[in-house]
Amino acid sequence: MKQPDNKDANKEKKINQKPPFWSAGLNWFYLFLFAFLLVFTFFSNPSGSTKEKSWGFVRDSLIAQDKIEKIIVVNKEFAEIYVKKDLTGSTANRNIGEKWLQTADIPQYRITIGSVDSFEAKLQRAQESVSPTMAIDVQYQNRGSWVNIFSWLLPLGIILLFWMYILGKLGGGGKGSNPLFNFGKSTAVLTEKGSKTTVNFKDIAGLKEAKAEVMEVVDFLKNPERYTKLGAKIPKGVMLVGPPGTGKTLMAKAVAGEAQVPFFSMSGSEFVEMFVGVGASRVRDLFKRAKEKSPSIIFIDEIDAVGRSRGKVNAFQANDERESTLNQLLTELDGFGPNTGVIVLAATNRPDVLDKALLRPGRFDRHIYLELPTKEERIEIFNVHLRPIKLSKNVDVSVLAKLSPGFSGADIANICNEAALIAARNKKKAVEQEDFMEARDRVIGGLERKSKIISAKEKEIVAHHEAGHAIVSWFLKNVDSLVKVSIIPRGKSLGSAWYLPEERQIVTKSQFLDQICAALGGRAAEEIIFNETSSGALDDLEKVTKQAYSMVSFYGLDEEIGPISFYDSSGQNERFLGKPYSEHMAQLIDKEVRDLVYTAYERTKNLLIEHLDELKKLAQLLLTQEVVEKEALEELLGKRGLPETGTLPKASNSVNT
Ligand code: ADP
Repeated sequence: MKQPDNKDANKEKKINQKPPFWSAGLNWFYLFLFAFLLVFTFFSNPSGSTKEKSWGFVRDSLIAQDKIEKIIVVNKEFAEIYVKKDLTGSTANRNIGEKWLQTADIPQYRITIGSVDSFEAKLQRAQESVSPTMAIDVQYQNRGSWVNIFSWLLPLGIILLFWMYILGKLGGGGKGSNPLFNFGKSTAVLTEKGSKTTVNFKDIAGLKEAKAEVMEVVDFLKNPERYTKLGAKIPKGVMLVGPPGTGKTLMAKAVAGEAQVPFFSMSGSEFVEMFVGVGASRVRDLFKRAKEKSPSIIFIDEIDAVGRSRGKVNAFQANDERESTLNQLLTELDGFGPNTGVIVLAATNRPDVLDKALLRPGRFDRHIYLELPTKEERIEIFNVHLRPIKLSKNVDVSVLAKLSPGFSGADIANICNEAALIAARNKKKAVEQEDFMEARDRVIGGLERKSKIISAKEKEIVAHHEAGHAIVSWFLKNVDSLVKVSIIPRGKSLGSAWYLPEERQIVTKSQFLDQICAALGGRAAEEIIFNETSSGALDDLEKVTKQAYSMVSFYGLDEEIGPISFYDSSGQNERFLGKPYSEHMAQLIDKEVRDLVYTAYERTKNLLIEHLDELKKLAQLLLTQEVVEKEALEELLGKRGLPETGTLPKASNSVNT
């Protein structure tokens, strides 16, 4: 069902209008009601000026002197005493010492009675003692008291308000609308045709193939006949897959800007709620809204929040809600025909955890992979993010791109912004190359903490530790090229060695082994120089152990175990607590890993003993100038004699605090 556009426009207008006072000021309404009830209770009390007296007073001063007109027993709790009409207001009561009210219509006195029976008996006795014929008129009444009503109305009201508050919080409560009724509605944000978005394809650098695929999706919606004429079915779902920060959300935003069709965007986690069934109802609502406005696009960010494989839920964390939401999503994807003009875009960085049913053809049948940018792409991304920045002439984008290996688009955006902030802090007129370098180091290693207090002994350990990394890296040919060594504390680490990693797709066994040796260089240097080891090698040892285990049990690089891999790309094994191999194999893996690391450690120590002189000199140099750059390293250790292959990824072996 397609609704005319102006109707929608009215709807939106209504939402934008100021809500009527009684809905916006609902709290004020309750406050007024409360105040009104309070005042009413106070003033409506007809016995407001009635005096409370004891039975003794009534017996001796009223009954004995025959002054009572009538008595009304109310709710079997108290008795109201009305005096004779002709006595009201009179001064003939001096013997009682009381001034009476001017009217006989309201009771002059009130007494609380224990029980009606005992009251009647007492009254009877009192009357008989005055005169045997005396008979005071006694009436009985049951009255609803405001205080009584209030005592049960108030808790009820509080519970009601509390519930509305909770539901309002859960339902996200649209402005001016009752959250109670919006609970199962989708919270997707609608970007309408023609609305100005700030992102378009021009803002996405690199990612040429992905961009072309996404543009094609936009074209499906704009010119469906071109495809259907030839018998082609238009895809229903497109999954954007890639590491964090590679521009998945950015791509979707650009689609919203360029497609010129209504665009619904929502995050996967927004479906999942405390109550079972809400997620499914939100999915239904989202698709209903999208179909009403077809052709349209739905974008679900972080779809792994709902699309996680159903088989992976283990016994300890059953999650009915997520499962029912996912089932609904699958049904909806199947439900609309291929040509209804709704295309679902989804983004995730964990495609491995997604339910297989979600990825089968007919649902998310197109997968677009966004990868970490290459050097050329990084240059383009830098250019996009440098646009708004005032640059000094010495900024060389290709050097920046070369020195930011393995960085995602988001990292690059971050470096550009950090560099501008650093330049501004130093009151510069334009951002210079060195600001970018500092920003880069900061993004990789964390903030420099020059003021951190380190004892002289600790500094010496750190210097030898870092020198150990540097020497081993320098003399092993399969380690990435070293660019600098520093013992300035940064983030959590006390020192670091910076590398310029090579861009490679596969790693050979000897590369793995050399890298392990380089990582063990710090610990080995400590042992050789101080004959004692410290806790500073934690990061290195963690890395080495993980790498050794993956070499042995994943990559099949161990001779004893052979070409066997226990890697599980489907993640199916995660739910079993046990291992997929025998106890004997487990012991063999442990033994092989230990042998591998011990051998590498011995090799590292031998290398360092061979270059002991250089190790000591480099450590001294570090202690005097804190940072040693590549040129100084070459001077001390000689040229590395290896081809300079490097572009890219990150650096750092560090001493943990
Ligand atoms: P994710 O893939 O995690 O969804 P985003 O799309 O949110 O990543 O990207 C975060 C930021 O990184 C973007 O706002 C943008 O500034 C920057 N970015 C990422 N990739 C690119 C790119 N290819 N071109 C330009 N900027 C990019």
